[in-house]
Amino acid sequence: MSEYRTGLGWDVHRLAPGRPLILGGVTIPSDAGLEGHSDADILLHALTDALLGAAALGDIGMHFPDSDPRWKGADSLQFLAHARDLAVAAGYTLVNVDATVILERPKLKDYSAPIREKIAAALGLDLDRVSVKFKTSEEVGPVGTGQSAEAQAVVTLRRG
Ligand code: MG
Repeated sequence: MSEYRTGLGWDVHRLAPGRPLILGGVTIPSDAGLEGHSDADILLHALTDALLGAAALGDIGMHFPDSDPRWKGADSLQFLAHARDLAVAAGYTLVNVDATVILERPKLKDYSAPIREKIAAALGLDLDRVSVKFKTSEEVGPVGTGQSAEAQAVVTLRRG
């Protein structure tokens, strides 16, 4: 009998002019990008936390502390791939991932396919098991006024 586990992830980073905007490992043309120690990819950080959470293996800050110079400017795809490796080593198979990015601008719908493809490749999943959705914050609050962006993610794992 299979056991199913679900994990939840969330992340926020500030937006700043002159920074690259990288979401799901894809660089998106934008006047402002996300600030952070790594590449500040909120989508991959939320997914990494969801994956670690489903397997009860801690969180992204525990595995990749932002005080560690090794992770300065790091490509967050390596965080996600490492979390996948830890979950697989613990006996889990990934079932599916679902995520939402909340960013006021630019519009992201044209980047859905490349972002999903990157995440699917990093996780070794078929494309139909990877969902990424985009929303704005209706010009309300820190996300809506362009101060920050957020991402939420859910990951399901199966064991046995
Ligand atoms: Mg983060």
